[in-house]
Amino acid sequence: MTTRHDVVIVGGGLVGASLAIALERTGLDVAMVEATPAAAMPAVFDQRNLSFAAATVNALTALGVMQKLRAPAGAIQRIHVSRQGDFGRVRLEAADYGRDSFGQVVVARDFGEALEARLAELPRLARYRPARFVALGEETEGVRELRIDTEAGGQSLHARLVIAADGTASAVRAALGIDTDEHDYAQTLFVARVRAERAPDGTAYERLTAHGPTALLPRGDRHYGVVHGVGTGETEAVAALDEAGWLARVQAAFGWRVGRLLASGERSAYPIRRVVAQRLQAPRALLLGNAAQTIHPIGAQGFNLGLRDALTLAELLQGEADPGAAALLDEYAARRAEDRSRTLAFSDGLARLTCSDAPLAGALRSLGMLVAGNTAPVQSWLVGGAMGFRGQVPALCREAGR
Ligand SMILES: Cc1cc2nc3c(=O)[nH]c(=O)nc-3n(C[C@H](O)[C@H](O)[C@H](O)COP(=O)(O)OP(=O)(O)OC[C@H]3O[C@@H](n4cnc5c(N)ncnc54)[C@H](O)[C@@H]3O)c2cc1C
Repeated sequence: MTTRHDVVIVGGGLVGASLAIALERTGLDVAMVEATPAAAMPAVFDQRNLSFAAATVNALTALGVMQKLRAPAGAIQRIHVSRQGDFGRVRLEAADYGRDSFGQVVVARDFGEALEARLAELPRLARYRPARFVALGEETEGVRELRIDTEAGGQSLHARLVIAADGTASAVRAALGIDTDEHDYAQTLFVARVRAERAPDGTAYERLTAHGPTALLPRGDRHYGVVHGVGTGETEAVAALDEAGWLARVQAAFGWRVGRLLASGERSAYPIRRVVAQRLQAPRALLLGNAAQTIHPIGAQGFNLGLRDALTLAELLQGEADPGAAALLDEYAARRAEDRSRTLAFSDGLARLTCSDAPLAGALRSLGMLVAGNTAPVQSWLVGGAMGFRGQVPALCREAGR
């Protein structure tokens, strides 16, 4: 039996679920295919701390998701960037830009629960889970066939538009034959919840060292979300450290700006690769989120960018008779080009500041030099990243009057 939908979203992670919510107001018949069973949360909704740019907070509030968060988010009122062995630093105050905050820190697990609560309110959304995308047919008569594996066996769906929101190793992207450009940063990021002598005061710290970045994000629960980058060769040794050894390591990399680090929760580790699709569109198919571009997390941009992918598409589909029309998909790719390339350059630029192979690090040798000589461009570069207003900004990202 074949079931037909206007739009089939493969992947119910951060971007796929957000897209499903954003598409509700278009009135289209939308389905979401997610490999994780209904009773569980997709693995991506783990203990990582997500820093939501102001544009993201605006949009998720308009979509009714922020209101579903049960744990308090942590406001980022200032950003402090420093580099080990360098007296220069960049300090940005949201108040100087007429804002209460640059964004909010939310734990991915809490965000997953909020998305799920909002998805449960969508009467029209068809959900296939656990269901794994396995294959794609050619376009015929204005639809594409997808094959999915469900608990009841194989099933066929017809979609006027297929969305690949199935993450970095996207099976849909592979089935479409879209190649990727990849780069291994030779870094692993460790993430944990940490308590320090001084509770968060709204400052997000980014500390750059030659071995990798260390960030402390102000969570809403009086803890910091620590992100600590290490070279691949050190991964096993860092994973094996006991709590005291781990805290001593982070303290040495980060310094004493929040006093002594007192206790740490469990650590999770993420090897870091950049994976960028060479095209965003194929007949009756689009790539969104990590399937389209997986970037270094240092600039906290991945989901923020993926959400803008989703919102742009939702805007374009509003009132459209054929959601998979070739001209519409081309328009989508054109609209995403500037934000995509600038955000990629931003994240890569920050990442390279911390890598030894870095041409950019050579050029921007010293943050001190940068700040002294070139303050305005650096600040607008960082603020642009932190707030998420880049390129053609989707309407839901803008507050009234801004
Ligand atoms: C340590 C770390 C920190 C980060 N911090 C930030 C941050 O502060 N701010 C920010 O904006 N971003 C951050 N990111 C990036 C962010 O996590 C990603 O951008 C985001 O997860 C991308 O969402 P996605 O929906 O595209 O992909 P994913 O979240 O990976 O979701 C893909 C979904 O597809 C499903 N799936 C996969 N294959 C199939 C299949 N064949 N069939 C059906 N379903 C399938 C998976 O189960 C999953 O649910 C961070 C990333 C890391 C690693």
